[in-house]
Amino acid sequence: MTRRVYLDNAATTPVHPKVLEEMLPYFTERFGNPSSIHSFGREAKQAIDKAREQVAKALGARTDEIFFTGSGTEADNWAIKGIAYANREKGNHIITTRIEHHAVLHTCEYLEQDGFEVTYLDVDEYGMVDTDKLKSAIKDTTILITVMFANNEIGTIQPVEEIGEIAKERGIYFHTDAVQAFGNVPIDVNKMNIDLLSMSGHKIMGPKGIGVLYIRKGVKIHNLIHGGAQERKRRAGTENLAYVVGLGKAVELAVENLDNHIHRLSGLRDRLIAGIMERIDFVKLNGHPEKRLPNNVNVSIEFVEGESLLLSLDMAGIAASSGSACTSGSLDPSHVLLAIGLPHETAHGSLRFSLGDGTTEEDIEYVLEQLPPIVDRLRAMSPLFSQYKGGKVNV
Ligand SMILES: *Cc1c(COP(=O)(O)O)cnc(C)c1O
Repeated sequence: MTRRVYLDNAATTPVHPKVLEEMLPYFTERFGNPSSIHSFGREAKQAIDKAREQVAKALGARTDEIFFTGSGTEADNWAIKGIAYANREKGNHIITTRIEHHAVLHTCEYLEQDGFEVTYLDVDEYGMVDTDKLKSAIKDTTILITVMFANNEIGTIQPVEEIGEIAKERGIYFHTDAVQAFGNVPIDVNKMNIDLLSMSGHKIMGPKGIGVLYIRKGVKIHNLIHGGAQERKRRAGTENLAYVVGLGKAVELAVENLDNHIHRLSGLRDRLIAGIMERIDFVKLNGHPEKRLPNNVNVSIEFVEGESLLLSLDMAGIAASSGSACTSGSLDPSHVLLAIGLPHETAHGSLRFSLGDGTTEEDIEYVLEQLPPIVDRLRAMSPLFSQYKGGKVNV
């Protein structure tokens, strides 16, 4: 059997065995509805309260500022639409960036059709937002700045604390999509002046289909989901009990493991980057060289197609990604890679390896063994590469 190496942790992660263990009783003997007043209900309610405490503690927030959602996508939708509709009389202008996840970008585009004005900030070649450009984009009508904490494709970490400071000074709400950042970077919502923050369970070894929106106390926001009185009347629907419990545990484990995670994975990441650069010609690292997630490697390999690379890697048992999981299946190159200025062909030859707590040194060595011959083989079939080698093309 071929070895299997999973390096697509930015797409999703396995559920941690301790998380699963914590969840299981809440499907069977502790199945109560948290809204019920009998002992079954109270037991369920207590479990939800505990998870809320685990999340609040991890963010430096209060428990009444934590709201469970059905996904990271829902948290992003709620933050942006909720702020937009609740603060419409104050203004209709939103500032975001060109490199956000589609959960943010498509929500902003939707609001544009409903009378809101959105500024999409450009980023530099490393995917960084320029805070001076952000300042000059602010208008009297600006009600929300939404900038992701760390990018899911290229791993670039934004100057969140500085952005929070700017937003606070101008009295504008600041939302950050921290789905990729949480568990990879220390986060404190007060120190960083964050008003709203999105998280997702399945990116941090929790289950899929559960997320969190942190909403600072006093923030004026509309509801997205209407119905019962759950989540202090802010997010209706019977709580996803077992998943909430699992998310709480995943968050607790991520915080406990944070220092070790950062140290170990950034070492493996740097080994993988250096190894690729050493062994393969015409390769470019995408994203910021230092301000990047400890688990992210994104490279453009010239004269090959990302999809072909992925298929060959998959045959060798290696799971990676080209661009983001959401855009694969479409032929357009990733909006993030285009925003950092990559030409279409270079963007098409991009690969993302995202490491996780299950990644070992042997996994990295295996990739470094397998990848170079795959690239050689694909380049041998590329007319562009043979023309280049023959000196007929300037790159
Ligand atoms: C995965 C992801 C999301 C979406 O979270 P889901 O829980 O899968 O809906 C949003 N933003 C970023 C940056 C992500 O990586």
